[in-house]
Amino acid sequence: MKRFCSPILTIALVVGSIFSLSLIPGFGADEKAIPATSDASSSSPEQRQPIVLTAAAAELHQSLLLIDGHNDLPWEVRQRAARSFENLDISKPQPDLQTDIPRLRSGGVGAQFWSVYVPGTTLKEGNSLAQTLEQIEIVHQMIAKYPDTFQLALTTADIRRIHASGKIASLIGVEGGHSIENSLSVLQQLYRLGARYMTLTHNVTLDWADAANDKPVSGGLSPFGEEVIREMNRLGMLVDLSHVSPETMRHALRITLAPVIYSHSSARGVADHPRNVPDDILPLVAANGGVIMVNFYSSFIVPQSARRDVQANQLRQRLSADGIDEETIDAEVRKWKREHPAIAGTIHDVLDHIEHLVRGAGIDHVGIGSDFDGVPMVPAQLEDVSSYPLLTQGLLDRGYDAAAIRKIMGENLMRAMAKAESVTAK
Ligand SMILES: [Zn+2]
Repeated sequence: MKRFCSPILTIALVVGSIFSLSLIPGFGADEKAIPATSDASSSSPEQRQPIVLTAAAAELHQSLLLIDGHNDLPWEVRQRAARSFENLDISKPQPDLQTDIPRLRSGGVGAQFWSVYVPGTTLKEGNSLAQTLEQIEIVHQMIAKYPDTFQLALTTADIRRIHASGKIASLIGVEGGHSIENSLSVLQQLYRLGARYMTLTHNVTLDWADAANDKPVSGGLSPFGEEVIREMNRLGMLVDLSHVSPETMRHALRITLAPVIYSHSSARGVADHPRNVPDDILPLVAANGGVIMVNFYSSFIVPQSARRDVQANQLRQRLSADGIDEETIDAEVRKWKREHPAIAGTIHDVLDHIEHLVRGAGIDHVGIGSDFDGVPMVPAQLEDVSSYPLLTQGLLDRGYDAAAIRKIMGENLMRAMAKAESVTAK
């Protein structure tokens, strides 16, 4: 799993037929939170049974363009395989991962933004850019090694053409503005290498943008942060507001000339976690023409799991304030998490988030951003990249028509990206 240096030990317990619980030592640095009130469960208990794929849903899914906003496979290739697909052949089933080519195919993935994430701690080490370039190279090598499956996409026209040819359009998303090392020239070069969105921050607040999980410095964006947004608009690189604080979201929405995206964030009105989008920002995203691409991570989608994540982080902060060393803090938080296991949830939790965002922002402003291979726990029936057809089924079951489902699964992102392309043309 990305972002955690310690080896991952996952103990999955199956409870009943639907829920699984996992314990992830070392997990906790990534995404943090607060207590929750759920207005979600609009569906009846019968509707929360496991989803069964029908021929009609499978056919609809096959015919639509599915675009996922965030997949961390490149980080897994770095961590597990010394950055080489020679050591990790994704043309074969890779059950330890959430992503491989056979499952991308059965999931009907049409386009994928591959995250070239590197940790915010690289900022202190002074090698954010070098590592980001290494991650971008992993994506280019993947495309070169599997040319029958992947092709680099730089524009919406590329996505349509590559999808029509039967390949998976592969886009690059930079996760965290630390990657540009405070240089607009570097931002321009990342664009040249193929990056088509940049998440303004990861979990670490930068001197030009505040993160959701860190202390604020600028109260949103600094003047340089505004310059970054303007330059991204000029280049035609999508501004990604996942991971930033609500003040940064509002600030960016005030000044951007192009639609924004949230490449992997869910609804705070369902699960009160700072990584999710607050309700009062939903109309602003709608007015901007942006898209919130729903994250599948259990700690962001299940209200109780979000609350647990908040509490674990409060514990971490308390211990840190007491001057306790990092190693002891990690051990204590791991112990607390073992004693308070998270609930994985089910696909219905993700559908609740989609519905909430549709109510708050409108059908034109919701998308899909799984975060596969970046998160240690996912809900039942959304375990890996083969599961997307069940989302199409779940939306049909909840009364969405084909046109609405096409928007959520990819057309909304296409519209936002096309608008960003037209902004740069001006
Ligand atoms: Zn992330």
